Amino acid sequence: MRKAVEPVEDKTVLLSIHDVSPIHEDDIVRTYDLLSKLGISSLTLLVTPFYAMKKVNSFTRGSLFSEFLLSLDIELSLHGYSHFTKSGAMNEFSSLSTERMVSRVKDGVLLMRKSFGQRPVGFVPPLWTSPPRIIKAAKEAKMVYCVEGNNIHRSSDSKVFSTAERIIGQGQSTINAETAIFEMELGGALQIAIHPADYRTNDLFDILTDLKNRQHYRFLSYNDYLLEKK
Ligand SMILES: [Zn+2]
Repeated sequence: MRKAVEPVEDKTVLLSIHDVSPIHEDDIVRTYDLLSKLGISSLTLLVTPFYAMKKVNSFTRGSLFSEFLLSLDIELSLHGYSHFTKSGAMNEFSSLSTERMVSRVKDGVLLMRKSFGQRPVGFVPPLWTSPPRIIKAAKEAKMVYCVEGNNIHRSSDSKVFSTAERIIGQGQSTINAETAIFEMELGGALQIAIHPADYRTNDLFDILTDLKNRQHYRFLSYNDYLLEKK
């Protein structure tokens, strides 16, 4: 059966903060403040519960940071387990066997429940890349959706929503937004990922400000967008 693909509405940004981990606590708090000041209130927090496989990077239930994140009352979703492969590359899921992939997703869900007392809403693999079988794994782990490249796969009805482009801030001094700039001028739908260090290292916030104030894009979390779509 062919799956229905529906483009995400124009002038929409599906916005997320990547790599939400205690290692980035201060930067995440600051990033959230800056987004609030811009008038952005719907976005997805992408939690990596065991960042770089370091115990100090795991969340503690009831800690100030966990409570802060919960108090925001915005979507908490899963962004990998450790974010890294054994060899240190960031695309954690790119070359895992199905079995190991499924167990990492399950472990991630378990850690989220331990840390926040709730399941992650959806799943976005590190760098948005993973073999397509991750979609099934995410569905089996009761995730509402799974992102793979430009596609957002909804579990309940297997509907696929697709954006024109993606911009991933990596916390480095330059952002590779060249292909996205064209889409931005056309008003095409985008996924934008903010890395916790972006606000102090590059011009991603200028891009967000421009999209909001000049081009009148609206900003939504993945789940808020999906909830609008029957
Ligand atoms: Zn990431």
